[in-house]
Amino acid sequence: MQPDYQLIYEKLFNHYGPQSWWPADTPFEMMIGSILVQNTNWRNVEKALVKLRPYLDPESIDFLPIEELAQLIRSSGFFNIKAKRIKAFIAWFKKYNFDIDRIKRKEKRELRNELLLINGIGMETADVMLLYAFDKPVFVVDAYARRIFYRLGHDMPASYDGFGKLVEKELPGDLVIFNESHALLVEHAKQLCRAKPICVECPLLSICDQRIE
Ligand code: SF4
Repeated sequence: MQPDYQLIYEKLFNHYGPQSWWPADTPFEMMIGSILVQNTNWRNVEKALVKLRPYLDPESIDFLPIEELAQLIRSSGFFNIKAKRIKAFIAWFKKYNFDIDRIKRKEKRELRNELLLINGIGMETADVMLLYAFDKPVFVVDAYARRIFYRLGHDMPASYDGFGKLVEKELPGDLVIFNESHALLVEHAKQLCRAKPICVECPLLSICDQRIE
């Protein structure tokens, strides 16, 4: 059976309320955070962002030697790789004179393809940037979304784009709904639909097959 995305969204929204993501002061901080969070948890990212704070603008990071950048973000793990990725991202961003509004005017698919060409920007990172920095309504397919939809009883496409497009087709193309939808799924996976789920308190219980391995 096709999932009722709108219903899932409404039930989560009514239970958890607005999440107002991404947790960042500026779109630039958001984008750097989205690279730092690869393969680690948000607590480690926060520690890195505290150290990085005095340099948290594109020009400063552009001038920062890569070794120094790597040391500043050490707490986020894989810091040498992530420093290279941040530098690659900055080199791309510089082509637009660090002008986010100019990038926002680009068509969604075209911009996504550009982001995917940057070293270390995969589909999930590209999509969170599109959604939370460039105001494009996209569905972010992460491990939490996969876990929740599977447990609800829906066999979603195995490919990233297949999963994302299926949800995007059904949800209204409203930026706020996509913004909240990803944040709500993350919140739900952390609070109730954990590795060991707490189903008795779950707002999705009445529509869930509870396929728990
Ligand atoms: S009922 Fe349980 S398995 Fe289903 S979504 Fe809720 S917490 Fe997850």
